[in-house]
Amino acid sequence: MDTHADIVVVGAGGGGAVLGLLLTQRGIRPLVLERAVGPPQGIRGEIVQPNGQKILDDVGLLHQLPKEAVRPVRHFHFRQIGGKRLCSIDYDELPPPYNRALVTVSHAVHHAVLEALEKQNPGGLWYGASFTNVLKQGDTVVGVEADVQGKPVRISANVVVGADGPFSKVREAIGIPARLHRYPESYLVAVLECPEKLEEAQYFLGKKEIFGIFPAAKENVYLVYMVKSGSVQEVHAAGVEILQRRWSAICPELEGTFKGLTNWEQTAYLPTGRARAQTWVTDGAVILGDAAHGMNPHVSQGRMQAMVDAVALAEVLPSCFAEDDFSAATLKRYEQRRRPMVEMLQRLADEEVFFWNTGNPILTVLRNRVFSTLDRNRRLKYRVLTATAGLRDTPPFGIMDRLQAAGFWPDPRADQRPPHVRAQDHGSGSL
Ligand SMILES: Cc1cc2nc3c(=O)[nH]c(=O)nc-3n(C[C@H](O)[C@H](O)[C@H](O)COP(=O)(O)OP(=O)(O)OC[C@H]3O[C@@H](n4cnc5c(N)ncnc54)[C@H](O)[C@@H]3O)c2cc1C
Repeated sequence: MDTHADIVVVGAGGGGAVLGLLLTQRGIRPLVLERAVGPPQGIRGEIVQPNGQKILDDVGLLHQLPKEAVRPVRHFHFRQIGGKRLCSIDYDELPPPYNRALVTVSHAVHHAVLEALEKQNPGGLWYGASFTNVLKQGDTVVGVEADVQGKPVRISANVVVGADGPFSKVREAIGIPARLHRYPESYLVAVLECPEKLEEAQYFLGKKEIFGIFPAAKENVYLVYMVKSGSVQEVHAAGVEILQRRWSAICPELEGTFKGLTNWEQTAYLPTGRARAQTWVTDGAVILGDAAHGMNPHVSQGRMQAMVDAVALAEVLPSCFAEDDFSAATLKRYEQRRRPMVEMLQRLADEEVFFWNTGNPILTVLRNRVFSTLDRNRRLKYRVLTATAGLRDTPPFGIMDRLQAAGFWPDPRADQRPPHVRAQDHGSGSL
């Protein structure tokens, strides 16, 4: 055996890097293997929801994030393309201090986590290190084989964590079956300078068309435009002017900003998918994040949930070390804690895909009607907000709520204020 680590984490992405940092802070030194040669570069924006902000705060990073890459945003407006405002969401309804969404660009959060990991666990993050296979004794995983800068290396470990994304090689190597689904829609994203003063986020919904406009730090704007999966060549061939014109037609106030899109280097193309792994644990190994449960970005929770997985696993692993027990039965505690919430979010994301991405005129009318009802129904709107904010693990709507949201049934509690803002139980209400 070439070397030993207590824990090997494969993949320093949204979940793996946070797990590496959390374990380091709890006195367990992990070895994190990342196939990329360094931190990710290129165009990327992201919404950091309140649950993710709390985790970043707990690891000491929330207030270290670079100001030039992070912008708090309070209001999100949903609008009909070519039509009226449908619904407005106010993050200020949530309990402070995490009562804003953070719009981040330039991989700000990810870079901060990687930097902290390298500083707090020197030598514990290997770039250019690709996982190739697991090492086993009988059915138990006892380490990994990796290609480290062109050289094969064998690393023994008490636990192997597959945090290597939706097409996880670790998951495959340990024989966990998974159902993978590629959505027919992908996203073109861009970060542009925005001379117009923009304070609030806007999300335009049309027929098979979605355009998100999010204010970003330093007078920039993060744009997210839905395109057909596999159509990036087609979109590029049509030329940037077509896109500029379309975006200007959707949001004429920002025409000047959209003129700043002059070449495709200012954009990135991101496919979307869902992964459902049958189990997340086996003897000596676990998977987390997109490897276990990739989800559609509509719920804005993919990276957040990978981070929450990391927190749950970092709480379970110390007891595994204390008991010297890394069996699937013990590791299962982590999966049992996490499954209900991610399954709820995956279902919610798919419902949103069904209604938001639709080109069907009847579904479009129903979608717009639900948004308009939610706009007037404080109780239901708060439920949706807490789901997106990552603050609930039960579905936002039951059957009755759905009928009420669609406007088919009156809601006598529509004006009910969220529990935490009631004077008598401020801060302690259940969501
Ligand atoms: C358009 C779009 C917008 C999104 N917006 C948001 C958002 O606003 N908020 C949010 O919370 N989420 C968002 N997401 C989702 C989010 O990006 C993912 O859910 C998140 O990155 C998952 O984290 P992860 O650690 O599981 O996987 P990843 O972040 O994909 O990390 C996997 C890591 O493993 C490495 N790796 C892979 N194979 C190997 C190997 N063989 N050996 C070693 N390393 C390997 C990869 O290089 C990578 O670094 C969005 C996704 C898309 C597509």
